[in-house]
Amino acid sequence: MRLILLFGALFGHIYCRETFVGDQVLEIIPRNEEQIKNLVQLEAEEHLQLDFWKPPTFPGEVAHIRVPFVNIQAVKVFLESQGIAYSIMIEDVQVLLDQENEEMLNQQRERSANFNFGAYHTLEEIYQEMDNLVAEHPGLVSKVIIGSSFENRPIKVLKFSTGGDKPAIWLDAGIHAREWVTQATALWTANKIVSDYGKDPSITSLLETMDIFLLPVTNPDGYAFSQTSNRMWRKTRSTLSGSLCVGVDPNRNWDANFGGPGASSNPCSESYHGPRANSEVEVQSIVDFIKRHGKVKAFITLHSYSQLLMFPYGYKCTNPENFDELDKVGQKAAQSLKSLHGTNYQVGSICSVIYQASGGSIDWAYDFGIKYSFAFELRDTGRYGFLLPAKQIVPTAEETWLGLKTILEHVRDHPY
Ligand SMILES: [Zn+2]
Repeated sequence: MRLILLFGALFGHIYCRETFVGDQVLEIIPRNEEQIKNLVQLEAEEHLQLDFWKPPTFPGEVAHIRVPFVNIQAVKVFLESQGIAYSIMIEDVQVLLDQENEEMLNQQRERSANFNFGAYHTLEEIYQEMDNLVAEHPGLVSKVIIGSSFENRPIKVLKFSTGGDKPAIWLDAGIHAREWVTQATALWTANKIVSDYGKDPSITSLLETMDIFLLPVTNPDGYAFSQTSNRMWRKTRSTLSGSLCVGVDPNRNWDANFGGPGASSNPCSESYHGPRANSEVEVQSIVDFIKRHGKVKAFITLHSYSQLLMFPYGYKCTNPENFDELDKVGQKAAQSLKSLHGTNYQVGSICSVIYQASGGSIDWAYDFGIKYSFAFELRDTGRYGFLLPAKQIVPTAEETWLGLKTILEHVRDHPY
């Protein structure tokens, strides 16, 4: 009996996975500031357990809210009473989760010699594939462990280098656990760099002048937890111990942990910055690595979803000194991205595109002196949100690569 249970545990079948049967994601378009205020107040109602996939920003801009099944009626009644228009974006979240899960199991069964970049993978599979890349391209790729996660998983970075210690580009993904298309895109990108080096003159000349550091899974604990226990997970730790706010995890907006003025000190708030800047060991590891390296010239981070390409600032709404240059590069990158599949991106500072949001990594990087700091919010704009079907991974990665390359070429050609 014990053996059977043990095997069950080994193969992941007895995990108690949270389900989202009947949960809906509502699309809401607030018409004015009053309605935005109402929605923000709704979020503060803890008993409703609302999950703001895309918070309300400006009048006329959509917001997306996942509503647990038990509270759907109450929320709809509230919205109607306030005259706030809504529609149902996802009818039943669990239906999408079941599809996603089945696809993952299928590809695990059909596992062939070649890694399937068009599928979602477990952390172990991703780490294994990173090791394979290093083993197959020892002259170009190496592995750098920059630290350990809260639960002691290695934080694994791939270094692409043609030798020496050149100025560098930093690229990370997966700081928010549930943004699965970002980890997948990063891994595809790693493979793209090794297969195009020596063939594509752009990436070849880039690697002759710069190194690239790529961190595909910034938050390994959260990623593992989002697969075994709760698909909606985005924070770092997989336990709630130490929570300062009952029922809400202590560090919901983990990306707000990079410091900077203005993030919330209220543990129950969406923009809680953590007990202090860099309190999370994963964030501290990145900050330490970049400081130690000393020659990082570009800092690019991948998030999902919304199709945005953003640069500083988020913590304030004044433009950074290099606004014109960053805006020009961003617009150009969005154009090349769009040229492949027609995907539209909005470009601008975090504050102009989303809202004032503090403590994000690109603000930290920019104020640290890394001029070329960009954040991508990948596909889509809400049809699937965080649950982007696996068949969109490769198209997403391909188009993102064109945008990335435009930025990287600019960095290569404008040394500072
Ligand atoms: Zn994110």
